[in-house]
Amino acid sequence: MEPPPSERARAALDSARAPDARKAAQVFVAQVGRDAAFQLEACVHCGLCAEACHFHLVTGDPRYTPVYKLWPMIKAYQRERAPFASLKRLLGVAPPESTAQALADWSELLYDSCNLCGRCTLACPMGIDIAGLVRQAREGMSAAGFAPPDLYEAAGRALETGSAMGVRWPALKRQIELQEKDTGLKVPVDVEGADYLVVLSSMEIIGFAEIIGALARIFHRAGVSWTLPSAGFEATNVGVQIGSREVAAVLLSRIVDAAERLKVKYVISPECGHAYSALRWEGPNLIGRPYSFKVVQIVELLDQLVREGRLRTRGKDARRLTFHDPCQIVRRGGVSQAPRRLMDGVSGRFVEMPASGAASFCCGGGGGVSAIHRAEKLRFAAFECKKRQVDATGAEALVTSCSNCRNVLEEAIEQYGMTLPVLGLTELVAQYLEPERPRP
Ligand code: SF4
Ligand code: SF4
Repeated sequence: MEPPPSERARAALDSARAPDARKAAQVFVAQVGRDAAFQLEACVHCGLCAEACHFHLVTGDPRYTPVYKLWPMIKAYQRERAPFASLKRLLGVAPPESTAQALADWSELLYDSCNLCGRCTLACPMGIDIAGLVRQAREGMSAAGFAPPDLYEAAGRALETGSAMGVRWPALKRQIELQEKDTGLKVPVDVEGADYLVVLSSMEIIGFAEIIGALARIFHRAGVSWTLPSAGFEATNVGVQIGSREVAAVLLSRIVDAAERLKVKYVISPECGHAYSALRWEGPNLIGRPYSFKVVQIVELLDQLVREGRLRTRGKDARRLTFHDPCQIVRRGGVSQAPRRLMDGVSGRFVEMPASGAASFCCGGGGGVSAIHRAEKLRFAAFECKKRQVDATGAEALVTSCSNCRNVLEEAIEQYGMTLPVLGLTELVAQYLEPERPRP
């Protein structure tokens, strides 16, 4: 009998730990479908992507040119699959195979110095989705032992415990109880037939658990039927970050199972950027079938509730506030106006950063970079671009809608000796809810 998908993913992950350059080349070539091949052929070497990437901008290092990061995959493609590849190999003019040492060295370019943020994709005049291709190149790197050890460990933990940070149900249950005590509201768990299923990132559960209370207050006020699941509550997907479709599919299936078990109509993607891209955009392809539910990002839902008149706020934050756009939710996900409408509702002094919205800079920690210890120095250096954006606003507090961004921003702000607090948008909305009217 065939082992279950989680055991197969675990076995694939374990066998991938031994570096194997030939295997990496095979997966690179397998990843290069017709669309990717067309994209790789289209580069006109204009260098605009370099001017868009914060890692290149802050260091001036030409190795951080986005399209250059794809070189091992391009080389494998040119050697094995490009037009006249076999003739070129015969004549000895095909690019040589990458060695294991070269790929080990390249790991920094495909992981530590790429947030999969897509700013380079936006800048490319040829429409080359460099971020998407880096994501594909990571499949080859992770399958052949060249991903960062921290990400292999996180992926193993996620398969074993359900969470890349090792958060299990008792830890979430404890946070739920604390939030119930704090708000005086019951947090529904495993309610079959609820309209909305809330999933959370471990970062929220560990670092920003007040979001559970904020959701309870908002949904209570708006009359939203919702539930948390006791199994399948983890929204983050380290499989997407390391570049392993097997791991990503197993982690995603847990949410799908919870949604189908509880027969919900919607799954709410929480304040977590890459969870949104995994759940909303990659999910059905990963599991090989359409969902029986719809996915909605929490900020989209809050905006909808406000516009329907089901959620009212009163009063405004007096501080000068600015908003950090999480790359996967705004640039890659298209949720750009909803957070601004919500900000306008709760802030009397909301000010945009220069180059905000789809053009904004990453916090520096997306795409798994915040989990890679060896990348910390580079991540803090890359924050310089974000810092310039924030400084230009004169803001007294920074608001965002991704808990990973929030954590990364807090760390970088401390590192740079800045003082402004970082707030979660959902919590900010909950803070300004119109007081409940006494029921007749
Ligand atoms: S996706 Fe972002 S971090 Fe990665 S190469 Fe492009 S601009 Fe740089
Ligand atoms: S911006 Fe596009 S066309 Fe220009 S160098 Fe980068 S990938 Fe090539």
